[in-house]
Formats: sequence, C-alpha cells, structure tokens
Amino acid sequence: MIVEEAMTAILRRMGKRYTRFEHLDHAVAPPAPDPDCTYMLYLHVPFCQVLCPFCSFHRVEFREDKATRYFKALRREIELCHQAGYRFGEIYVGGGTPTVIVDELARTLDTATRLNPIRQISVETNPDDLLPPRLQPLLAAGVNRLSVGVQSLENQLLKEMQRYDKYGSSELVQERLNEVNGMFDTLNVDMIFNLPHQQMDSMLRDLEILTEQIRVDQVSCYPLMGSKTTTRAMKKGMGLVTYGRERRFYQAILENIGPGYVPSSAWCFSKSEGAIDEYIIEQDQYLGLGSGAMSYIDGQLYASSFSINRYIRLVESGHCGITRRARFNERDQMRYYFLMTFFGLRVSKSDAEKRWNGRFARGLWREFAAFRAVGAIRDDGDAWRLTERGMYLWVLMMREFFIAVSDFRDLMRLGIRSELDPEDRDQPTAA
Ligand code: SF4
Repeated sequence: MIVEEAMTAILRRMGKRYTRFEHLDHAVAPPAPDPDCTYMLYLHVPFCQVLCPFCSFHRVEFREDKATRYFKALRREIELCHQAGYRFGEIYVGGGTPTVIVDELARTLDTATRLNPIRQISVETNPDDLLPPRLQPLLAAGVNRLSVGVQSLENQLLKEMQRYDKYGSSELVQERLNEVNGMFDTLNVDMIFNLPHQQMDSMLRDLEILTEQIRVDQVSCYPLMGSKTTTRAMKKGMGLVTYGRERRFYQAILENIGPGYVPSSAWCFSKSEGAIDEYIIEQDQYLGLGSGAMSYIDGQLYASSFSINRYIRLVESGHCGITRRARFNERDQMRYYFLMTFFGLRVSKSDAEKRWNGRFARGLWREFAAFRAVGAIRDDGDAWRLTERGMYLWVLMMREFFIAVSDFRDLMRLGIRSELDPEDRDQPTAA
C-alpha cells in the first residue's frame, strides 16, 4: 500500500510534467517523417449523442452539420500529412463516438487506405451502433477491430452513468454484442471497474457474461479515472470516486477472467494471442489528427486544437491542426518508452537497447532497481517482464498518467466553452 501511494504521487507529478505543453500562437507542422518508417495514425472524432459524466475525453454534443464539416477537414488533414511524406501502417479511430456518421467515417478511412499501406484499422463505437447493416460500410472499408464502450452490464449502474436511456439496457446490449460477434477479426469490449456503487459480484457477473457466454475476443477492464472535472460531475449521480477498492477489483479480474483469456496488456485480456491491441503499446510513435488529438513523434508530444471551429479553419487553410507542443529530454523519452512498453507486459532488451544506442538499462537504472525491489519486473533472458504485482502497479501508473492527460484536456476545454454550448456561436479561441 505504501509503495502504491508513493507511486501514485510520483506518477501524478510525472504526468503533469509530460503534459506541460507550450502554447504556440501559430499552427505548426509535425516534424519531417522518417522515410523508412510507417507510423500509426490516430484519428479523433469528438462527437457523442450523450456526454457521460465519468468521461474526460475530448467530446462535444453531436450536431450533424458540424460533424459533416469535421469529417471533411479530417480527410483534408490526412491528405496534407501524405503530402508532407507521412506513411501509415495502422489506424486507430477514437472519440467521442467515431461511428456517429458511419458513411462519413467509411469515406475518411477510404481516403487513408487509398494513400497508405494500411494493415490494421481499429474503430471505437457505442452499443447503439452495433447493428450489422450499420457496420457493413466499416467492414468494406477494411476495419478489423471494433471496440465497444459498454462500461457495465448492470442496469442500475448504466442508469447512474446516464447510458441506459441512450445505449439501452444490459439485456439489449448483450443481444447486440451477440449479433456482431464474429463480424470483425477482433471484437473488444471496454468495461470500467471500481465504479462508486459497483459491487464485486456485479463486476464478476459482467465478466462471466462477456467471456463465458458471449465470448467476445477481448475485454479491456479500465479502472475508474477521475480528473478534477469528472470527479465533480460524477459525485452528483454516480457517487464519490475513491481508489481504496481498486486493487481488490483488479485482483478479482486476474483471478476470474474467463477460460482461455490471457492478458495482452495490464488491463486488456484476449482470447487469442493474435488479437489486435490498443494503439499505445503497438507503436510508440504515432501521429494524431483531428481536434484534441495527441501525437508522439521524435520525443515530442503534440496536441491539436481543442476548438473544433479553429481546427476546421486551420485545415481549410492548408495547415495541420497542431497548436501545442511538449518537448521531452532524452531521459523523459526513455521513461515514456519504459511506461508505455511495459504496459504491454514485456520489453525486448535488444529492441530497447537498439533504440537507445545501448543506454536504456543504464540510463534508467534507478527505475529498474526500484521496480525489481518491489517485485514488479523480472528478468526473462531476452526480455524484461512484468510480474502480476507489476501489472497492478502499471494499472495504477497508467491511471495517473491518463488523469494528468484528462486534467490537461479539462484545461483546454475551458477555452472552448462556447463550443460546448449547444448554441455554438463560433467564437475564435486559443485552445
Ligand atoms: S464514454 Fe464514450 S459515449 Fe460517453 S461521453 Fe465518453 S466518449 Fe462519449
């Protein structure tokens, strides 16, 4: 417990440092790409039919006219990056709800696949879009991983999260999951644990339904994460966010995940080793396009404008949407690599040393010593591996990292209050 509290404090500070962005008065182009590299492309679609109180992603209420203009800008930004020399091998589309206008999303994916040698496409969605005819255009566009935000299968919790009316009852969600299971190479379901009013047996029942009855390909179990703003919003309808029960929930997940499911990251469990995972562990360099998207290229973290209006204007005038940049020194870059790569449970010694010209383990000797001392990492010949204890510490570290990112998003969203209002007045903004 002491180790975990100390780790939380250190990580909170580290996360804040990583998200200390310089504000740029002008849009900047991403750095020139390495011609020998194919990158991961992240596309952000920030529209949702309902705004869930626990969610700190960059999202606004859906408006068809605005979303249509946005998708058009996204396609233009993909073309601009292609002209700048970027080539992409994988695409991850997150949100928001990327499937708010399925045909627009399919057209956007077509633009990307026409210009790039794409191998994998992963798209996030919500239960109300889980209808085979509705998803057909995505299959045709080459999507092979569909990730559905379900969060819980208990009706009372769905009501507290304001998801019951829009996305349907637990029974309806299960029916829809059954209908689309097998349609894509990988069907992933996102669940949250440690919700304030969640009981252990309720979470275990959810896992049993997903892994023993429906048998989806993958279940990602995220710990509840409370940024400053969402903690306040959740307090009203969902209860107080605390972390005292988190470890017990996580341990129960490890002990009860269905037969045949193995961890493929600290919080993702897959039925087969070939299942496609989250983008952050597949590739440590990625370019994010769209309002509020983040990129990590050449040791620098970039953020695109959180103002959807400004983002569209920038792209229409021939620029990418990036307006903020955080520079990491070499040690911070190594620590970022350490955090993200170990999240995938294993770090190849040769890959890490090649990447850092033989300086990786020496440069991070304090981190290695500390994590070995608490039994989080073990040496496994050609790789370092996370132990079961290490997996929980990584959940905790990623939770803190994402809370820091969420606090940054909250700050950015303060600058676009006029756009969060349904009566959007299209005001200029610096966000
Ligand atoms: S949880 Fe999903 S549906 Fe809810 S507001 Fe966030 S992105 Fe939108």
